[in-house]
Amino acid sequence: MSILAVMEQRSGQWNRMSFETLSAAQELARELGATASAAVLGHGIETLAAELASKQLARVYAVEHELLRDYTPDAYCLALSQLIDRIHPQYLLFPHTYQVRDFLPKLATFHHRVAVSDATAHRIDNGRLILARQLFQGKVNADIRLAGEGPHFASLQAGAYRADQVAGGAASVEVFRPSIAGTQIRTAPEEPFRESQRAVDLTAAEIIVSVGRGIKEADNIALVQKLADALGGELAASRPICDAGWLPMDRQVGSSGQTVAPKLYLAVGISGAIQHLVGMKGSRIVVAINKDADAPIFEVADYGIVGDLFEVVPELIAAVGKAR
Ligand SMILES: Cc1cc2nc3c(=O)[nH]c(=O)nc-3n(C[C@H](O)[C@H](O)[C@H](O)COP(=O)(O)OP(=O)(O)OC[C@H]3O[C@@H](n4cnc5c(N)ncnc54)[C@H](O)[C@@H]3O)c2cc1C
Repeated sequence: MSILAVMEQRSGQWNRMSFETLSAAQELARELGATASAAVLGHGIETLAAELASKQLARVYAVEHELLRDYTPDAYCLALSQLIDRIHPQYLLFPHTYQVRDFLPKLATFHHRVAVSDATAHRIDNGRLILARQLFQGKVNADIRLAGEGPHFASLQAGAYRADQVAGGAASVEVFRPSIAGTQIRTAPEEPFRESQRAVDLTAAEIIVSVGRGIKEADNIALVQKLADALGGELAASRPICDAGWLPMDRQVGSSGQTVAPKLYLAVGISGAIQHLVGMKGSRIVVAINKDADAPIFEVADYGIVGDLFEVVPELIAAVGKAR
């Protein structure tokens, strides 16, 4: 049985969610007694393939073609279909990026399969993979059992697996050259959409102090900002804080905000809804301050302080000041 992680790159730069997918592929391979391999598509991708070769993988497939230089759904589906027909992976895992959302349903349909999208977790039952995904905007969690023969297709939610747990190793690289004709490509790629420059890049922050609805009023955010300053960290927030306009949207952490993986994530007055957790559960150390001992945030916290943030935060600021 083999598992293929399909990595995403653009102009030679990885989409960092790809490494979460790679980590998931390695984890599944261990649990299923299978082998994990990885594929990268593009043109002139030797360096990227060489980087993958330093991971614990059975093989790296460098899917190389001039018509894969820029992304088009037709070229990607043709190339991946030909790779699937050659190596017959049981499971193909993808990061749940905009690009994957664009071509994965088409690729799966090509193979008379469904694509399980935005999976948040997995478990193994009798040697079969079961994927968890949310329905109705997170109100229902569903288990999806993949029946029948592979290939099975799944995309994984950002933050569902930890990129920093990818195991190193030595893999061989196979260059796979699909046959694609220009006439098979029905769309012409244009200049890629660029998001407006973010004022703050939380993804690069090593320390994040994040504030939730427990803060009660916009004016109180200054208190949490003080803690962030004392720790030399960035201020972030749960969605209701940004929805209320108390902090800008680029400070929002979660499924509809940024996915962060700092060394320290301090959650202040945040309950720990799944949509928030998926954005921060890759953090190395999580500290939660919440007055409700049963708040779900404590399930992912390494250290928990059950108490009123208006008492705890000033004490912490003073303690950090002293320690410095
Ligand atoms: C499609 C969709 C996408 C979403 N995307 C996101 C997202 O990207 N990011 C996100 O964060 N949410 C997102 N949400 C919203 C999410 O479901 C939660 O509603 C939200 O995360 C709750 O924010 P919160 O924890 O700040 O507030 P609450 O759930 O209201 O929690 C406040 C917490 O503060 C504690 N508290 C109150 N007073 C104090 C005090 N004095 N001291 C200490 N603790 C106190 C309470 O015990 C409580 O646990 C999304 C929802 C949907 C449906």
